[in-house]
Amino acid sequence: MAYDFLKNLGIEDVNSGVWAGEWIKEPGGSVIDSVSPITGDVIAKVRCASKEDYESAASAAQEAFEKWRMIPGPVRGQMIREMADELRKYKKDLGALVTLEMGKIRAEGEGEVQEMIDICDFAVGLSRQMYGKTMHSERPGHRMYEQWHPLGIVGIISAFNFPVAVWAWNSTIAAVCGNSMIWKPSSKTPLCAIAVQNIIEPVLKRHDAAGLMNTVVGRGSEIGETLISDKRVPLVSATGSCRMGRRIGEVVGKRLGRTILELGGNNAIIATADADLDMCLRTVMFGAVGTAGQRCTTTRRLIMHKDIARDLTDRLVSAYGQVPIGDPLDQATLMGPLIDRAAAADFGQAVSMAREQGGSVIYGGKVLEGDGFKSGCYVEPTLIKADENMKIWRDETFAPVLYLFEYEDVDEAIRLHNCVDQGLSSSMFTLNLREAESFLSHRGSDCGIANINVGTSGAEIGGAFGGEKDTGGGREAGSDAWKAYMRRQTTTINWTTELPLAQGIKFGD
Ligand code: NAD
Repeated sequence: MAYDFLKNLGIEDVNSGVWAGEWIKEPGGSVIDSVSPITGDVIAKVRCASKEDYESAASAAQEAFEKWRMIPGPVRGQMIREMADELRKYKKDLGALVTLEMGKIRAEGEGEVQEMIDICDFAVGLSRQMYGKTMHSERPGHRMYEQWHPLGIVGIISAFNFPVAVWAWNSTIAAVCGNSMIWKPSSKTPLCAIAVQNIIEPVLKRHDAAGLMNTVVGRGSEIGETLISDKRVPLVSATGSCRMGRRIGEVVGKRLGRTILELGGNNAIIATADADLDMCLRTVMFGAVGTAGQRCTTTRRLIMHKDIARDLTDRLVSAYGQVPIGDPLDQATLMGPLIDRAAAADFGQAVSMAREQGGSVIYGGKVLEGDGFKSGCYVEPTLIKADENMKIWRDETFAPVLYLFEYEDVDEAIRLHNCVDQGLSSSMFTLNLREAESFLSHRGSDCGIANINVGTSGAEIGGAFGGEKDTGGGREAGSDAWKAYMRRQTTTINWTTELPLAQGIKFGD
């Protein structure tokens, strides 16, 4: 095996893709290759879950839930604290695997593991803070309050672009809330999931909770469908494309299950006439080029006031020309490959369509070839001057393409900002209080995240994360997002010898 860190993480040439309280030795599904987008080489093979293997995982999760729900919250939190300790030990190795298998640069790969650690810390604190309200009863001698109970098995479906952090956002909160879970990671990044399961294995065992956090690798259309149709799974938290979210919403909704949907974005920055252009430039670069444009929060549209548009555009073209593109394992690289050749082809097609629709490519636009780019997954970061008549920018192309627009007044900018179907993250760069407040007002940004002088990507775990409209409406991570992982129970206790009815109703008295 070419990389030592793979051994440290317990990755073998052929790996089981099913943890059902323990590794299932030879899962019965197909065998898939994990291919690195960096070189196009196979890193290792993974045996996927069959329906029977899924059953084993679901039984393990059900059994674990029966015990785990009776463990006090703060004690559950202790297990998450120990998970964080393990993740700290493996931060470098797991970060490197994220880079190798997904293609994001080292700093971002390790950043993703840091995000796992951060959410663990958050969940440990939360384990003592799952507060319910008390109310004043209208009946004398009655006490009313709300309490929160765990739901059961939480299904976690994750996308390739955050192969470990999104699992942690869900699993740590779900676990302190008293749930067990089954994770179906993206079949483009199965090794990351296997490594995470290996890292947490000793902690789960120490807490007699081996079946609490299970993993089933397999295709969405096969094992994903089995998971979302399973009535034993009251909540499915799914991250991925809007198409996938619609399907999951339909299937889970039909059985009246609950979903947390974290779907595609089409995020914009509005740069006003008096924006700090240096800050704005640096932020746009990170937002549009970072992770090779493969974040749900990637900046995909820049809406510039006409007075600064030329200056900002010139600066962007010059900065785009200096982005080091190449092997993301190399510390000097700022932009690595897309996830696979199909993603590079989608990029190429989007650029052609933009041209056909009247857009003007002012930087980039090509799939890169030649030495260092032989996987066929590398593309140029791309700037396209666009207008409202074009259709292509209304869709999320998961690649580093930034569409540039101009506006004259702030109402026009906000209208242009809000005119897409997705509603995840948004930002305005301005030093003008009135414009900032209008962006944050009820007639301003329609997104789940709205920032001033902070870009669209790179959220902290302390806030509730998620978006509106076609982005799905789900919220994960901080704030009170934990409530989605629990069921609320309103309780009234009568400590008197009377039986008064609410609303003063008399019934046979
Ligand atoms: P994808 O929709 O192709 O797949 C996501 C996951 O869903 C995978 O695990 C896949 O196997 C599974 N899946 C697909 N069809 C399924 C089905 N019918 N039943 C059950 N599971 C199914 O997405 P992707 O290409 O892996 O990721 C990129 C997309 O994810 C982008 O649209 C991006 O914006 C979005 N994303 C959103 C967020 C967010 O928080 N809003 C975060 C990360 C990524």
